[in-house]
Amino acid sequence: MLQRHIFKTLFQQFHFGNPGPAKGLLCGIPSALRDGHGSVWHRSKSSLPDARERTLVAVKPDGVQRRLVGQIIQRFEHRGFKLVGLKMLQVSEALLSQHYCQLRTKPFYPSLLHYMTSGPVVVMVWEGHNIVQVSRTMVGHTNPAEAQAGTIRGDFSFHVSRNVVHASDSPEGAQREIQLWFEGEDLLNWDCCDQSSTSEA
Ligand code: UDP
Ligand code: MG
Repeated sequence: MLQRHIFKTLFQQFHFGNPGPAKGLLCGIPSALRDGHGSVWHRSKSSLPDARERTLVAVKPDGVQRRLVGQIIQRFEHRGFKLVGLKMLQVSEALLSQHYCQLRTKPFYPSLLHYMTSGPVVVMVWEGHNIVQVSRTMVGHTNPAEAQAGTIRGDFSFHVSRNVVHASDSPEGAQREIQLWFEGEDLLNWDCCDQSSTSEA
């Protein structure tokens, strides 16, 4: 009986705009939802991260040796992100020491330099909505033993010293790393023909 009353009141509220007692029943619902999808849209639209946000992703020497480059690129392509720069190189210690400048005092730093210079890396810049955060999720926990299955590290590695892939950890970090690894003219601004299918922005 009570249920029928609640249903009837809600029905009146939504269909006839009757500002009756249903207002009280809805007060626990966030206002953005309560006021209809229009306000949800307005709120998320205004706080959208830049659709052209960029990040640096690198397949580390173990990933290259194990022929994982194609699979890693494929994950970013399938996700709908846009590749705007790519190169393969044997990285110098000088570049690495700038790239990992925050880790210089860590005990694993010497072995990290040795690992990262042990063979070529494939370094890329990817672009898309919220890409820094999303790519960190796709890459997974730094220690593959703790990385979720389905992430790159969770699927392809088991030890922190051979974790296959790098991705920038913040938009500011991404900007710094992109400038470190790429000249401006090496990055292409191009239009994806499926842009409207991968992002509304
Ligand atoms: N690393 C390591 N041992 C550790 C922690 C990190 O060898 O205990 C290496 C690992 O290759 C990692 C890199 O150092 O990817 C950079 O560490 P960071 O904390 O920045 O992790 P990431 O951002 O790569 O997840
Ligand atoms: Mg890092």
